[in-house]
Amino acid sequence: MFIAFFNASDYLIEPALQTGKLKVIDNAAVARILVDDNGLANGVQYFDRYRKEERRISAKRVVVAASCVDSTRILLNSCSPRYPNGIGNSSDLIGRYLSEQIRFTIRGFAPELVGTNPHNDDGIGGAHMYMPRFNHSDGRKRDYIRGFGCQFWYTGAQTDLSWAKSLPGFGLDFKKSVKERYPALLALHPFGEAIPKAENRITVKGSPVDQYGIPIARISYTTGENERRMAADMYDTMLEILHAAKQKSCHSNTGTWSRMAARSTSTGRAPLCSRMLQGLYYTPSRSYSFFSAEPFD
Ligand SMILES: Cc1cc2nc3c(=O)[nH]c(=O)nc-3n(C[C@H](O)[C@H](O)[C@H](O)COP(=O)(O)OP(=O)(O)OC[C@H]3O[C@@H](n4cnc5c(N)ncnc54)[C@H](O)[C@@H]3O)c2cc1C
Repeated sequence: MFIAFFNASDYLIEPALQTGKLKVIDNAAVARILVDDNGLANGVQYFDRYRKEERRISAKRVVVAASCVDSTRILLNSCSPRYPNGIGNSSDLIGRYLSEQIRFTIRGFAPELVGTNPHNDDGIGGAHMYMPRFNHSDGRKRDYIRGFGCQFWYTGAQTDLSWAKSLPGFGLDFKKSVKERYPALLALHPFGEAIPKAENRITVKGSPVDQYGIPIARISYTTGENERRMAADMYDTMLEILHAAKQKSCHSNTGTWSRMAARSTSTGRAPLCSRMLQGLYYTPSRSYSFFSAEPFD
């Protein structure tokens, strides 16, 4: 569950309604921006989701805020004799340079926290310690450009207990093993920057239509060599942090970072990572997803 502290529904819409100057038309699926003879936006075509009826509304100004993909879809579908490739798209740039983050999660249990008392560490999802990008500043060698930051999840407050499914056993012993690990879980979630490429794009021409006859967004996206190299370094760095944490926190022989099974992917760089794998299991798989699958003991 993700909990946003700020959101438009709670903090903006209500006060705006109270001014009496706002009218909200809900369940309205916008299809196109309408333009006048001079090519200026003067309204919107939308469909009532319940009645399945087309509606039009005129406006002096039109603000497009339907998120990255759907805003693009609306702009590209807003074709007219004046804008045959979509409104504002004479340069053919709308929809191009789509960029996603490269990211994955490695989860583990901090040995020194296993069996300690859980804390009520309420926060926004309990997940937001942030390590800014650092790989450009300390002389670290890298074979890619740009960089990555990292969020640390579950630092004291958890909204997700799915990891418990990966623990063996059942009954009281199982409950005990979940409970003692609960305060000890943390997750490293690095975010890497992708290089924008013109061919990574959203298009609508020739794509299937939705229930209102409006072409849906089609996404064409490939990950490049720079992203693959960065992902490998991100993975190495995360393991380096885990490894360092182990050395720092496991001054007694109570355990190690061992038994954390990590699955990786597409990096195909397991050997490169292997120097970090003392005490860790690493199993390549097909998505950017790392998951601790075995219990700490
Ligand atoms: C799981 C998750 C976690 C995230 N965590 C963070 C975070 O920790 N920090 C952070 O800064 N960002 C985070 N983000 C990103 C952040 O939520 C988005 O960048 C932000 O909400 C985008 O705002 P927006 O107004 O552009 O689009 P949205 O909030 O997506 O709003 C677009 C609205 O347009 C509506 N819409 C779409 N198409 C149409 C249409 N044709 N007609 C009418 N309405 C339409 C949609 O229903 C939606 O209500 C997260 C996103 C996700 C999914």
